[in-house]
Amino acid sequence: LLSSATSQGLHVVHIAAEMAPVAKVGGLGDVVSGLGKALQKKGHLVEIVLPKYDCMQYGRVCDLRALNVVIESYFDSQLYESKIWVGTVEGLPVYFIEPQHPDKFFWRGKFYGEHDDFRRFSFFSRAALEFLLLAGKKPDIIHCHDWQTAFIAPLYWEIYVHKGLNSARICFTCHNFEYQGTAAASELESCGLDKNNLHRSDRMQDNSAHDRVNAVKGGIVFSNIVTTVSPTYAQEVRTAEGGHGLHSTLASNTKKFIGILNGIDIDAWNPATDAFLPVQYNATDLEGKLENKQALRRNLGLSSADIGRPLVGCITRLVPQKGVHLIRHAIYLTLELGGQFVLLGSSPVPHIQKEFEGIADNFQNHDHIRLILKYDESLSHAIYAASDMFIIPSIFEPCGLTQMISMRYGAIPIVRKTGGLNDSVFDVDDDTIPPQFRNGFTFVNADEQGLKGALLRAWNLFKNNPETWKQLVQKDMSIDFSWESSSAQYEELYINLAKTSQIGNEYN
Ligand code: ADP
Repeated sequence: LLSSATSQGLHVVHIAAEMAPVAKVGGLGDVVSGLGKALQKKGHLVEIVLPKYDCMQYGRVCDLRALNVVIESYFDSQLYESKIWVGTVEGLPVYFIEPQHPDKFFWRGKFYGEHDDFRRFSFFSRAALEFLLLAGKKPDIIHCHDWQTAFIAPLYWEIYVHKGLNSARICFTCHNFEYQGTAAASELESCGLDKNNLHRSDRMQDNSAHDRVNAVKGGIVFSNIVTTVSPTYAQEVRTAEGGHGLHSTLASNTKKFIGILNGIDIDAWNPATDAFLPVQYNATDLEGKLENKQALRRNLGLSSADIGRPLVGCITRLVPQKGVHLIRHAIYLTLELGGQFVLLGSSPVPHIQKEFEGIADNFQNHDHIRLILKYDESLSHAIYAASDMFIIPSIFEPCGLTQMISMRYGAIPIVRKTGGLNDSVFDVDDDTIPPQFRNGFTFVNADEQGLKGALLRAWNLFKNNPETWKQLVQKDMSIDFSWESSSAQYEELYINLAKTSQIGNEYN
């Protein structure tokens, strides 16, 4: 059970805190399964290691079973057991680690936001490597993601290479530099990393709070290759303004740092087959899209009187990064213009959640505005399908998936020109862009005027030029946002990395 299947291609192990649809908070979850599936399709052996959360969507794991082994991994000067489960998610083999630690690290009813997240995920990272070692796996690539599993990189080169797990090169992807996983330097010791060796300015010392360590910095320093999720964001984080304190670390590691635009899982996000939708549709049958609009209006109790009334959608985590004040402004602006607005979002930030609950209450039985403040996968599909326009006024956006999903469902994106939005949405009025690439509406300044200008331009086109609008919808629905080209870029990186493993055991 524990041996790895042989394959012509590379053996890639993703170690992550999220994977769609079983454990998803945001885009990270989509990327792990989307990229994993695409690489599997190309003939590589792809395996995933995840924590076994109590709050996972267990219904989406096939053949989940406990393995007849227990691993013991180091934490706080002693060994702790973890049970290992295996199952299949979206056709990918997944190992779930269930620590038998008294702190019940993954029995919290939520994925993140616990006071001991640093401990929870440094424990998980160590246990994941222990599992690979014990299972005798010989991966070519270990791919870790975000601060939660950035510990893998220093753990691998400092400890596990010497224990015999030494076949791999490490790829680290940072999906958002705002979240870095910092803690007092002493906390690093829990998972067995040597504070004296790592709490240094060229290793894991936080660049601002010098008495702390920084997991993402460790991921950057100790990985063979570091990626982020769009070329524009890769440029932005190299600046003092965009780097959240890590620009200097990226500067010293610039040769191994690259931005690759995410794709989306075009099987999971396909209006022609989407089982969450009351009516499936495609670019040549937009009647079906209208039926979804009417169905959503009925379900949410919005007025269905005027079918031509534009519906603006927004699906997001409500955090400052997403431009919450501009989202709020877009709601009132849409109302003023005579449209309908549906927001699906939830916030880990109490004052933002409270503010939006206030707005939701204001519009409780309103004919044209509805705010649904929770995470709801099925409703998200229905909103993409029903919307005419889709608003993403982010202050910064590493990649962003909702603009790609909305286009695939024929909802025209209105976005701020930043990060991955800048690499995937091109303004219909921008003469510097070849016409065939123009697909939405963009604005530069993160203020109400900027947003208003773009929304008004979209509004006018929708109202005054329905035929051009329809062509835009059809064009957007046909754009290829699959993982095909992005996964090919990862594949090339992996192949080049794997070649270097013959040269020696080094991360630089
Ligand atoms: P981020 O990773 O910063 O949250 P992305 O745009 O990369 O943003 O990914 C967001 C993903 O999460 C999309 O698949 C989107 O549909 C989904 N999503 C965000 N909020 C919700 C919600 N409240 N309910 C359902 N899905 C959501």
